[in-house]
Amino acid sequence: MQIKSAEFVISSPDVGGCPNPDRPEYAFIGRSNVGKSSLINHITNRRKLAKTSSTPGKTQLINHFMINDSWYLVDLPGYGWAQTSKVNKAAWKKMIHTYLEQRQNLACVFVLVDIRHEPQNIDLDFMQWLGEEGIPFCIIFTKSDKLGKTQIQSNVASYKKEMKKTWEEVPPTFVTSSADRTGGEKILDFIDRVNGEIRSH
Ligand code: GDP
Repeated sequence: MQIKSAEFVISSPDVGGCPNPDRPEYAFIGRSNVGKSSLINHITNRRKLAKTSSTPGKTQLINHFMINDSWYLVDLPGYGWAQTSKVNKAAWKKMIHTYLEQRQNLACVFVLVDIRHEPQNIDLDFMQWLGEEGIPFCIIFTKSDKLGKTQIQSNVASYKKEMKKTWEEVPPTFVTSSADRTGGEKILDFIDRVNGEIRSH
């Protein structure tokens, strides 16, 4: 898929403020600092569509972007800020869970994980919850430029092995580097395919 247009639409404090659910929607989420903003800018081929390195405590909003006039890309606030308060965590959970449960046009959630790290409970628990809710998701490994080829393969394999402990099927996975600008095309092809399936139904 070629990106012909990518425009910011609206930032919403909750699912009620989101645009009309008139197009398929793909949400990106992960721990803070995982490289989400960089990845969104990489796949949309825009330098500053998503703002990088947002600070903890900043208002947490659901950010909608319209791509090619045909689908929404959603930048969701990250989780796992070390300094965040219990109140902030509870507010994040309520907002995100409500959005994910209620958004009718949500086609897939992309959960981003840093390829350098061992599987973390915060990510595994979140994916467990998505699975229980029946919300389709994929895993995107970020920052693959930080590792060699062999290490990438072995880290992806051990992540999948960890997931197989609880899942019969491992969701689709993508390996990306925003620094090297790799892996974005496969994500766009996947989105294109799902959009096609949605249209033909
Ligand atoms: P966010 O908080 O998840 O939106 O993460 P950002 O996109 O702001 O990135 C967090 C930090 O990781 C920044 O210092 C980025 O420059 C860096 N970063 C993001 N993507 C990559 C990548 O693919 N490779 C490398 N080496 N660094 C990255």
